[in-house]
Amino acid sequence: QPIVAVVGRPNVGKSTLVNRIIGRRQAVVEDVPGVTRDRVPYDAHWNGRRFTVVDTGGWEPDAKDRAAAIAAQAEIAVQTADVVVFVVDAIVGATDMDEKAVRMLRRSAKPVILVGNKADNQNLELEVNSLWSLGLGEPFPISALHGRGSGDLLDAILAAMPPAPAIIEGVRRGPRRVALVGRPNVGKSSLLNRLAHEERAVVDSVAGTTVDPVDSLVEMDGEIFQFIDTAGLRKRVNQASGTEYYASLRTAGAVEGAEVGVVLLDAGEVISEQDQRVLTSVVEAGRALVIAFNKWDLVDEDRRFYLDKEIDRELKRIPWAVRVNISAKTGRAVDKLAPAIRKALASWEKRIQTGALNQWLTALTQATPHPVRGGRAPRVLFATQAGVAPPRFVLFTTGPFDAGYQRFVERKLREEFGFEGSPVEIAVRPRK
Ligand code: GDP
Repeated sequence: QPIVAVVGRPNVGKSTLVNRIIGRRQAVVEDVPGVTRDRVPYDAHWNGRRFTVVDTGGWEPDAKDRAAAIAAQAEIAVQTADVVVFVVDAIVGATDMDEKAVRMLRRSAKPVILVGNKADNQNLELEVNSLWSLGLGEPFPISALHGRGSGDLLDAILAAMPPAPAIIEGVRRGPRRVALVGRPNVGKSSLLNRLAHEERAVVDSVAGTTVDPVDSLVEMDGEIFQFIDTAGLRKRVNQASGTEYYASLRTAGAVEGAEVGVVLLDAGEVISEQDQRVLTSVVEAGRALVIAFNKWDLVDEDRRFYLDKEIDRELKRIPWAVRVNISAKTGRAVDKLAPAIRKALASWEKRIQTGALNQWLTALTQATPHPVRGGRAPRVLFATQAGVAPPRFVLFTTGPFDAGYQRFVERKLREEFGFEGSPVEIAVRPRK
């Protein structure tokens, strides 16, 4: 989601403007323990577009050169932003400090929207025209306090953002798409047949949806799911026809078209290379993941002992997968499949509030900082969730992170916020 940084000298009304943008009357957080006062992010939306607003209200009160300190704060915010809102006091007019900031903004080459704040009346609105002299284009007269002009400003901010992704997040039509995958003979057709017959409905069409003829619609637990590319399973041709190569192409295609991969493993046999490849295809495609151990009816105490060890060893890179133990043959726990799929998809589409994310991350990195590298320990400036399905996070930092520390952050992120059943992507963007 795009980032909008609000920068400007102290007391020009940045926090009031941020309040106006996020639509809250309350003053923005001044002092929350664990939250950096320098750049505080908030979630906002306008005309259906979500974005993050970063308030750069705080500054180093003890800094020798206050202007330089503020400029440095602003610079960090600007570098991480997609759009910059530069606020000038309309009553005071442009000062030397403003001119300095303008030079930095020019160097950044980011789109800048110039705001003359405190234009509480028509006379002051006219005064704002003098800000043309800053060379940042048309100044927007606003009164953050009274709300005057804020709608036009928000329109301008939206217009300056990178274009919205073609797929609108959160809008989904039709049934959930599931890829039922696994190596030959793990019981895919048996499971599909059981689901189709026991749970009754393999429907041919659902009003308002288009379903590929190779797909199957199956009702489980009162909800219709679309199983992708099951033609081969229905006709039971997959064992007879095709090499492993074609089987893997087929798997990749089904996973690509699905939101969640249900990977069937044979609980009676060791987890093989081929099983691993199927699991990898789901994880690398960024889909939600459910692992179903099938043929659980064959698992006795002995097998259970070895299976637990195998799971520890072979599945340790994906401890977050949702797991169910089923038997397509007896029907055991097959009713657990729908809840498992729903749980994985909920994680896959989960969104963490920017404030909560940063508060948690600040506390975490303070308690366990990154190890010192080249005389310095890289710090997190701030973090944002860039998207869902799967959840993607961007960490803006003062330097590159070790792979080990990045894994630590992911593990802690999962502990804090869940995400069971979904891959999570974390990108670290060091400040240049
Ligand atoms: P696919 O290749 O993955 O579609 O596997 P199939 O559904 O054709 O099943 C392969 C073999 O495993 C068949 O002989 C099934 O009867 C058997 N099978 C499938 N599910 C189970 C199960 O839960 N328990 C047992 N004991 N056998 C099963």
